[in-house]
Amino acid sequence: MFIEHNENGVIYMASDIIPLRHAFTTRYGGVSRGHLATLNLLSDKGDEPENVRENYRRVAALFGVGEDDCAVTRQVHGNTVRIVTEADRHKCLTPVPYEADGIVTATPGLPIFCFTADCVPVLLCDTEHGVIGAVHCGWRSSAADILKNALTQMESLGAKAEDIRAAIGPAIGKCCFETDDDVPEAVTAWLGDTAGLFQKRADGKTLVDLRGANARRLMQLGVPAGQIDISDECTICSHEKYFSHRYTKGRRGGQAAVICLDSKAPSKTVSFYFPAAAEKSEGSAPLNSPMLYFAIY
Ligand SMILES: [Zn+2]
Repeated sequence: MFIEHNENGVIYMASDIIPLRHAFTTRYGGVSRGHLATLNLLSDKGDEPENVRENYRRVAALFGVGEDDCAVTRQVHGNTVRIVTEADRHKCLTPVPYEADGIVTATPGLPIFCFTADCVPVLLCDTEHGVIGAVHCGWRSSAADILKNALTQMESLGAKAEDIRAAIGPAIGKCCFETDDDVPEAVTAWLGDTAGLFQKRADGKTLVDLRGANARRLMQLGVPAGQIDISDECTICSHEKYFSHRYTKGRRGGQAAVICLDSKAPSKTVSFYFPAAAEKSEGSAPLNSPMLYFAIY
């Protein structure tokens, strides 16, 4: 189930299937204006750089890091999935030095981002083995099997398909994804089984359930159905809440899907007070220590 959260004015969606801190951002909670209002996270849409930086600062703060501490994608509707590490922390507003439509990591404390404005964002995690992924699944990347590449990269870091949980976020819904024959043909070649994913209309167009298609692919790849959560929000129907490429004919900003492995918790210091040790330090030990009193008396 997807639940809306409001943290310091940043409104985002999160799925209860994912036991890690993550966010599917919305348009709400940023400082950008006009058609980029308000939480635009793309720096190539004509936004004021300081607005984009402030928006990043707010989203990064949800993960306890700064705006220059996140790993991001430079998306090209391909199927490349990159493993990112500490070295890929990206300085906000600078060019991303690689192309990838998905990134995965085993680095704790490194939030990873992918960006959408109708395309399907997929967040993946295997908390058993400490591996996460963020994948931009437009129809071209989807049909080029980017999810298979994502799982292969996650498995190279130790993940197992049966332990992966997936949240498929807000995206263009079957209600609004009108396509010509190229999309259903590509999806059929990709999945084989497309039962329930298409709806042919009288005007020759086909409505395609791209989120359902990506969920089916995850199942084919060994992710249990019960570990996949699918948002029911359509970015076109909810274009006030989400940036939508189709609804605006491209005049829009972008939202992000973000996930982060927990930083290794500092090892808890468990203190035992040994009378012998207390006796040695009684001259300087704080007098409010009950065990010290015990040792003295
Ligand atoms: Zn819709």
